[in-house]
Amino acid sequence: MTDELDLSQEWKWYYEERGKRVVSNLQKKNINAIFAVNKTEALASVLAMIPEGAKVVRGDSMSVDQVGVMEALKERNQNVIIDAFARDADGRTVLKGKERRQAQKEAFHADVFITGANAITLDGKIVSTDAVGNRVAPVIFGPEKVILVVGANKIVTDLDAALRRIHEVAAPLNAKRHALKHHRPEFGQLPCVITGVCVDCNSEWRICRYTTIIEGSMASEKGRINVVLVGEDLGI
Ligand code: SF4
Repeated sequence: MTDELDLSQEWKWYYEERGKRVVSNLQKKNINAIFAVNKTEALASVLAMIPEGAKVVRGDSMSVDQVGVMEALKERNQNVIIDAFARDADGRTVLKGKERRQAQKEAFHADVFITGANAITLDGKIVSTDAVGNRVAPVIFGPEKVILVVGANKIVTDLDAALRRIHEVAAPLNAKRHALKHHRPEFGQLPCVITGVCVDCNSEWRICRYTTIIEGSMASEKGRINVVLVGEDLGI
């Protein structure tokens, strides 16, 4: 009997078709990209990309956590792990103040920097916005290898759609997440968090500060950036 309410096959097909197109276009831009059908396959791919002994620094990313990368790295115990975004059960960062800042700076000297992205266009542009810059700057320069874990829900048609996605979806939800779970009431006062709608605010706690558009890598940097595109909804 056909289950009319189950759309999982349709979504799987949709994400795979769009995902494979993005992967092909990223590869044309000297970015090493693969499509993983699900989180399990994504985790295996990410772990295979991280050599034994490598110093791994994590940028804030729900997608990395949902795939289970940091837990798996800790379990296999082959790497030095620096994670400025590790939190205790109450949602507070384990590292604080100068120590946390230093951990963020370690990204620039990492063997592997791992984080997510806010949007990827069908023609292979990776677009992200950050409040402080620690999540986006090392993707451009610094670490030997960059791994980006991205759900196929973040594939968009073009740059305009990428920026719209950031302001309409990613930034408000991320700000709400910090307000709700991370003891950051200041983010709860942003217009987009109060109303759910971005007004391109000038709040001193505006969360959208630094936007990067990665249009591939130079031939000499080929394969430095690695994208694991996952055929499931990940992150925000
Ligand atoms: S209202 Fe301000 S903080 Fe919120 S998404 Fe718009 S620009 Fe970013």
